Amino acid sequence: MEVFPLWRIGLTGGIGSGKSTVAGLLVAHGATLIDTDAIARCLTEPGGQAMPALQTSFGPGIVGTAGGLNRAAMRALAFSDASAKQQLEAILHPLIRDEVEQQTLVCSTPVLVLDVPLLVESGRWRDRVDQVWVVDCEEETQVARVTQRPGWTEAAAQAVIHQQASRSLRCFAADVVIYNDRINLAQLARHVEDIWAALNETSGTSL
Ligand code: ATP
Repeated sequence: MEVFPLWRIGLTGGIGSGKSTVAGLLVAHGATLIDTDAIARCLTEPGGQAMPALQTSFGPGIVGTAGGLNRAAMRALAFSDASAKQQLEAILHPLIRDEVEQQTLVCSTPVLVLDVPLLVESGRWRDRVDQVWVVDCEEETQVARVTQRPGWTEAAAQAVIHQQASRSLRCFAADVVIYNDRINLAQLARHVEDIWAALNETSGTSL
């Protein structure tokens, strides 16, 4: 009997690079997706598992009226204070890792895609995946995509980009780079199809 997953793919990329779009295409090919951002959101919702520790560490100012994380307050604190950022990660990461392990246990497909936006920056996931796939595009494209979203300015998009790993560092860590620039969604879909086919070939089996 096959033990799934056969492949754990760590999918990463800068803000607005197209990670979620690529993740959706991989799911359409039959992969299982674990979204670490979605797990983090769940942990910090009202009643979320991380909330007691976060409140103890950072005080009531980071708790919203409904009892979930006040993301703007937490972001401001983590942005201005490196030790607060570290503490936040120290609380969230083990909980995210446990949830990823639980979801991995019930994975019933050969390919598991772990969407980890800060995979390269955190250094925590590399040894938990078989391959790192990076979605890459030019910075100006990132800004153009992100500023389409309500409430995002060019300055805000730039600030996030400069907090994240550089493109070269990310691509250096990659087993596969999916260059998602100056191509439309149909072309991106074909690109992902080719990468999926290459994984099939490497596996010597139909995924
Ligand atoms: P974030 O880091 O903020 O979560 P992301 O990396 O997951 O972003 P997506 O949400 O997949 O990025 O893509 C950002 C936006 O760009 C979306 O509206 C998506 O539809 C669009 N997009 C991505 N790739 C392309 C493409 N090749 N052609 C046109 N639009 C694209």
